[in-house]
Amino acid sequence: MAKQEMREPIETGCPDPFQYMHPVSRKNFGLWKYHEHPRPGVLRHVAYSGDELWTVRAGTQRILDVYTLRTLCEIGETFADGYVHFTIRSNIEFLVADGNRVDPLIKALEGAGFIVGGTKNSVTMISHTQGWLHCDIPGTDASGVVKSMMDELIDEFRSTNMPNRVHITTSCCQINCGGQGDIAINVQHTKPPKINHDLVANVCERPTVVARCPVAAIRPAMVNGKPSLEVDEKKCVCCGACYPPCPPMQINDAEFTKLAIWVGGNHSNARSKPSFQKLVAAGIPNNPPRWPEATAIVKRILKAYKENARDWERVGEWIERIGWPRFFELVDLPFTKYHIDNWRGARKSLNASAHIRF
Ligand code: SF4
Ligand code: SF4
Repeated sequence: MAKQEMREPIETGCPDPFQYMHPVSRKNFGLWKYHEHPRPGVLRHVAYSGDELWTVRAGTQRILDVYTLRTLCEIGETFADGYVHFTIRSNIEFLVADGNRVDPLIKALEGAGFIVGGTKNSVTMISHTQGWLHCDIPGTDASGVVKSMMDELIDEFRSTNMPNRVHITTSCCQINCGGQGDIAINVQHTKPPKINHDLVANVCERPTVVARCPVAAIRPAMVNGKPSLEVDEKKCVCCGACYPPCPPMQINDAEFTKLAIWVGGNHSNARSKPSFQKLVAAGIPNNPPRWPEATAIVKRILKAYKENARDWERVGEWIERIGWPRFFELVDLPFTKYHIDNWRGARKSLNASAHIRF
C-alpha cells in the first residue's frame, strides 16, 4: 500500500483583512489625504482620489450575545454599506461612502439603544479582559465593572470635553492580561493562597508551580504523607500566579480580593516616552453588581483631570507636570506607605530631584 501523503499543516491566525474592508478603504489604502472629526462619534476620511469615507462609532460591551450582534449587523446592512469593524476597545464602527447616510445611521443606532461617541477627546469604551465567561482564574468580572462604570460615564463617551483621549482598562486577575491605561482598575489579592493539600498531588505539576512564583515563595513539601506544596507567607506578594497552574492554591476570596486603581499608563510615544501606570488607590471593595466604590474614585480622577490638565495632556503627562503630591490632593485620595515602590529596581523611577513643579 502506498505511503499515505502527509497533509499540509493548516495555518490559522489572522486572515487577510483586505477581503473584509469597505471597497473605498481598499481602493484608497495608504492614499488618504486627511481626516476630520465633524461631531463626536463620527470621522470623515478624504483620499487623494477625492473619495470620502465616513465612520460612525458606537460603544458595545465587548462580550456580545448573538441577538445584539444580529441587531448591529442588520443596522449595518440597512443604514450603512454592510461593512463594520470593531476597535480594540470594543467600539463597533460602521462605514459609509455617502455622507447623507450618517444621520439616519446614527438615528437607527440610538433608536436601538446604542450610544454613538468614543472618538477624539472622549472617555472611549473601557477595554477589559475576559472575566468569568471565558477565563478560569478571575477574581472579579471585568465586563461587569466596565458596564457599571460606563453607565455612569456615558456623557463623557458621547462628548469630547476631556483634555485628551482617556483610555480606561480593567482586568480580572492580578496577572493581568489587559490592564494598562490612563486609568486601570485591576484586581488586588491581599492574602496568600490557601492550599488544599488533598488535591495538590493529583492536580498540580509541582515543579511548574514552584517555577511560577516570582519571589520563590513556594517549596515542595510532604503534608499528611502526601506530596504537596507550602508557601512562605512572609515572601508571598499575593500575585496569584500560582493559582492558574495549581487550582488547589485558591487565592480568590470574597473578602480579601480587592480592586486597585492605577493611573498614567501609556503605550504610545507620541509626545513622551511610553510609561508604566502607578498605583493610586488600593484595597477598594470588589463589590458586585455595581462596584460603586471603584466607580466613585474613577469619576473623581476624571473630574480633576478634566478641570486641571492642559489641552492635549494625557493623564500621566498631567501628573508628571503637577507632581504626585498635588495629584493626591486634587483627587482627595490618601497617600500611604503602600504607594511607595520599594523594589530595588525602582530607583530609576523615584523622583530624586529638587525640581519645582507648577
Ligand atoms: S485578567 Fe486574568 S482572569 Fe482576567 S482574562 Fe486575563 S488572565 Fe484571565
Ligand atoms: S501568590 Fe504569587 S507570590 Fe504568592 S506564592 Fe503564589 S506565585 Fe508566589
